[in-house]
Amino acid sequence: MTGPGQKVFRFAPSPNGYLHLGHAYSALLNFDLACRAGGRFLLRIEDIDVVRRRVEFEAAIYEDLAWLGLVWEQPVRRQSEHFDDYAAALARLDALGVLYACTCSRADIARATRALGDWPRDFDGAPLYPGTCREKARMAPSLAANRRLDMSRASALVGGEIQWREHGAGEAAAEIAASPAAWGDVVLARRDIGSSYHIAVVVDDALQGVTDVVRGRDLFEATRIHRLLQQLLGLPAPAYRHHELVLDEGGQKLAKSRASKPLRALRAQGASPADIREMLGLAKGQSASL
Ligand code: GLU
Repeated sequence: MTGPGQKVFRFAPSPNGYLHLGHAYSALLNFDLACRAGGRFLLRIEDIDVVRRRVEFEAAIYEDLAWLGLVWEQPVRRQSEHFDDYAAALARLDALGVLYACTCSRADIARATRALGDWPRDFDGAPLYPGTCREKARMAPSLAANRRLDMSRASALVGGEIQWREHGAGEAAAEIAASPAAWGDVVLARRDIGSSYHIAVVVDDALQGVTDVVRGRDLFEATRIHRLLQQLLGLPAPAYRHHELVLDEGGQKLAKSRASKPLRALRAQGASPADIREMLGLAKGQSASL
C-alpha cells in the first residue's frame, strides 16, 4: 500500500544475463532514493522476451541484489503475469485508431528505405519505418504481424506538446519536450510476443503506482514514446531520472552482451558490497528500513 505522497521506485532487470556494475548502480540508486524518501522499492522482472529469458538468470538477480544489501517488496512483480493487461492497452490504442498491422521484415524496411535515398533514422540508428503497411487497407491484427503506432495520428490525437519531468544526474529537475515523432511508427506489439517493451513498461509503471522511474541514460530517448503512450492511455506520468551509464576501462558502455564482468565474478574475486558501492561512487549503505 502506498501512503499519501509516498514515492514508489522500481528496479526492472531483464533476466537474460548476469547483472553487472551498471545494474548494481541502477538498483542501488533506486534503493537509496527510496530509503531517503521513505518510499517503496519494487523489483520487477522484465521477462516478456520468452526466448531470451532464463530461470538461472532470474535466480542470480535475487542472489546478487540480496548480496548487495537490497531489500525489496514481495511479491516480486513479473511482466509475464501481465500479458492480459498489455493486450487491453493495445486494444485501447486500436480503438483510438492509432495501431496498424505490419508484415514488413527488417530486410523489407532496409530495401524500401534504401530506395528513398537519404532517409531519416531513429535514436537507435534504424531507418524510420517508411509506412508501407500503413498505406495498405487496415488488416486484422494477426499473430503473423507486428503492430505499429501510427505516429502522426497519435500525435494529432494528443494535440499539444507533451513533456516529462527529468531529474537527470543532479537534483534540479527540468521539463523535457517529449517530441516522440522522431521515432516514427514504432512497433508496439511484436509478432512473436504480442507485446513490446514500450507497452509493458508503461502499463506496469502505472499498475504498480511507480512515481519515480530511475534508469540508465540509454533509455532517455525511449521515454519520448513512453510519455506519448501514457497520454494516449490516460496513465499518470512518473518523474524520470536517467542516470549516467557505468563505463568499462575502454570507455564503452557495459552490456550483458559484451564480456563485461558480472557482479558475481567481482564477488568471487573477493569484492564486498561496500567495495562495489565505492567503485560506483555511491554513499555507504542505507539502512534497509523499507
Ligand atoms: N528491463 C530494462 C533493462 O533491463 C529496463 C527497463 C526500465 O527500467 O524501464 O534494460
